[in-house]
Amino acid sequence: SLNAGVIAVQGDVSEHADAIRRAGTAHGESVAVTEIRQSGIVPDCDLLCMPGGESTAISRLLQSEGIAPEIQAHVEAGKPVLATCAGLIVAATDADDERVDNLGLLDVTVERNAFGRQKDSFEAPLDVTGLDEPYPAVFIRAPLISDVGSATVLAEWDGRPVAVQDGPVVGTSFHPELTPDSRIHGLAFFADE
Ligand code: GLN
Repeated sequence: SLNAGVIAVQGDVSEHADAIRRAGTAHGESVAVTEIRQSGIVPDCDLLCMPGGESTAISRLLQSEGIAPEIQAHVEAGKPVLATCAGLIVAATDADDERVDNLGLLDVTVERNAFGRQKDSFEAPLDVTGLDEPYPAVFIRAPLISDVGSATVLAEWDGRPVAVQDGPVVGTSFHPELTPDSRIHGLAFFADE
C-alpha cells in the first residue's frame, strides 16, 4: 500500500483525497491518504498532492510550518507530485508575486488569476497526452502558464498550456479534484512508465 499526502494547510483537501483513492482503485493500488498541516509527515509519503485554494495563504503556511523544504526534498528524490491551480502557483519557479515563495518544483512561470480573465470559471473538454478520451477540466480563477521552460506540455486550452509535466511533477491550471473523473490523478501518480 502507498502513502499519499495532501497538503492541507488550506484549499480543496478532501476532494483531492477522494480522487487519489479512486485513482488508486482504478489502478489496483491501495492508498492511505494523510492530510498534511505540519512538518514531519511528507518524508513518509510516496506521493503528494498540492491543492488549489489561495496561493498566498498556502505559501505562507508551507514556509511557517517548515513543510516547504520537505516537499522540495520529495521531488529531489524523484517522487511524484500533482500540483493544481494555487498548488501549481506555489510549485512553479516564478509567479511574479512577492507574497508567494515559489518552490521551483517544476520549470514553469505562471501568472495568478490571468487565465480566462473574461470569465472567472468555466469547464472545457481537454485532450491530454496519455488519456484516451477528453478530460472535463474545471477552471476557477486559474493561473496562466506564461512560460514553459524544460517542462512538457500535456494539454492546452485556447492555444495555451494548462497541464504540464516536469520529471515527477505534474501541474494543472484547472481543478481535477472537482469532477468524478480521477484520470489526472491516475496520470500523475499511477501511470505505467
Ligand atoms: N486565484 C488563486 C490564487 O492565485 C488560485 C485559484 C484556485 O486555486 N482556484 O491563489
